Amino acid sequence: MTLDAHTPRVKQFDVTTWSDAAARGTLQLIAESVAQMVRFEVANISAVLDGILYSVAIEGGEEVKVAVTGLRTPIHYVLDELELADDWGRFKFVPHERMAEDDPFRWIPEFVPGEGADAWHPHDALLAPLYSVAGDLQGLLSIDLPISGARPDATQRNLLERYAAQAERALQNAFEREALAQRLRLTEAARRVVQLAVSRPDIDVALDECRPALLDGFRADDVLIRTYGDELAGSGGTAPRQVPERLRQQLRELAHTYWASQRVAILHPGREESEALEPEQHAALLAALRGLGHASGMLVPLGVGSRCLGHLILLRSHDDLRWTTDEQVGALEVARDIGHAVLASRNLMREQRLVAELRELDTYKTQLLSTVSHELKNPLGAITGHLELVVASEDLSRDMLFSLGAMGRATTRITRVVEDLLTLAKLEDPDARESAAELDLCPALVAAVDSTAFLASQRGVRVSLELPDAPLLVSGTPEGLERVFANLVSNAVKYTPRDGSVTLEVATTEIDPDVEVGRSGSEVVVSVTDEGIGISAEDQAHLFDEFFRSTNPAALAEPGTGLGLAISARIVETLGGRIEVDSILGEGSTFRVVLPAPRA
Ligand code: ADP
Repeated sequence: MTLDAHTPRVKQFDVTTWSDAAARGTLQLIAESVAQMVRFEVANISAVLDGILYSVAIEGGEEVKVAVTGLRTPIHYVLDELELADDWGRFKFVPHERMAEDDPFRWIPEFVPGEGADAWHPHDALLAPLYSVAGDLQGLLSIDLPISGARPDATQRNLLERYAAQAERALQNAFEREALAQRLRLTEAARRVVQLAVSRPDIDVALDECRPALLDGFRADDVLIRTYGDELAGSGGTAPRQVPERLRQQLRELAHTYWASQRVAILHPGREESEALEPEQHAALLAALRGLGHASGMLVPLGVGSRCLGHLILLRSHDDLRWTTDEQVGALEVARDIGHAVLASRNLMREQRLVAELRELDTYKTQLLSTVSHELKNPLGAITGHLELVVASEDLSRDMLFSLGAMGRATTRITRVVEDLLTLAKLEDPDARESAAELDLCPALVAAVDSTAFLASQRGVRVSLELPDAPLLVSGTPEGLERVFANLVSNAVKYTPRDGSVTLEVATTEIDPDVEVGRSGSEVVVSVTDEGIGISAEDQAHLFDEFFRSTNPAALAEPGTGLGLAISARIVETLGGRIEVDSILGEGSTFRVVLPAPRA
């Protein structure tokens, strides 16, 4: 059902929708039967709703029906009447002499009474109070206009007794059906609100879409939802309209108080003010509601845990209906669900904002690194060139040569850092990346081992590589892949003591779709295993961070930039693969590069 958010619906108490059709049908049948069998023209069954009697089934002419259906009889009036009655069993008879002449709450037939002591008089009243199982007055069965023109005789009174019992049971059943229907309505409203609230990322849209469910479930004509300000997520709500600032502030304070005690505030002209509401405050709020075109309202605080996050006000244009206990309890439950949805949406927004800020920061960092590295590259080239020229001159003392050697090594280290930074910046910039193609991985592995052969022989570390006969197809660039494995092999050599060995192994494995849901095909796995110093669990967590260098003194003794693994990981990630590490401190490490194999 769609509903124009700004057109309040008129919804007065309507007996044609009270309880359910079957229960109303039974009551009507009893009214018709009692009139027919006991031979009276009019029989009326009314139900007590919020202290008022409403006719829910009536037998009689059209005119009578219209007159009786329009009656709103306060219950205390009937109780006073019953005090004056003769007790006929379930039925009570009030002879006209004891009734008031002027009676606004009764329908009085117009006819001239007959002669005789048992003649029926227009002001005679014959009614049976109908009680709930718990013994509360729940309704009334009343009859009028005997066809005989006389007060009922013994046979009629016997029949009346039976019909009163039937009417009582039927009315109890109708009330039970009404309670059930109300609970169903509230449950349905809660279910729809939760469904909407969790399915929409934008909470204001979700809240707006909850409106029809809330209006239906709570028999309301309008609903205002307000969430309070949050520095990052902002405040919001549905159907913003002209609620004066002072009233808004007052509602906010009330919502906090009521959330703390997990209650709702009822604004209704006929009710005793709730404990937390001062009479003047109740009157002022009610007047404010009237100013907005409503007659009664229920203020429901929204929140999660101890935090009140907003409120909703369910509004009715008429005050015929009271806010039932079920509705109050149901409203608080819905408010808790909405509260959770509001909080979840705020957290999501906060996260999105933080992610955007971090991304911005990351882009800035990459640009800065790239700019600085570019600026350093040319002067570094000039220093290196001139150092070579100076070193080549003939009349240099030993001290001079020593200093020039130190300057040369320092320049080489700076150049390596600058080159690594440029590589990293290039990898982070999608436009600058070279495009990958399908190729055989074996030449890259051989090149990586060759490039570290000198270092390995200097350190006395054996490096072994066993390759399959068939090509190992992966997707990538030769330079990128060589860089990844040269980094891993040179680290393995660097961090392995003399006489140790480094082993490269290659395997192809099938992806198990049961373990890796949504993936299939095969992967190429290259592992580089060393017998070196190993890496602690804490260090393993940061291994791929830029500039990370271990806290292990044995590792720090080796020169390094802390960029090699960060670069390797970025390259592998861009190819859709990953690097895994297994290591035990003091025993050695295995770095495993897993690359997806292109599909056949
Ligand atoms: P670096 O230039 O410092 O080697 P990397 O990014 O390649 O930079 O490595 C980061 C850190 O990881 C190293 O400083 C070292 O502490 C540790 N590391 C890397 N590979 C190994 C390994 N095979 N054995 C022990 N530690 C390692």
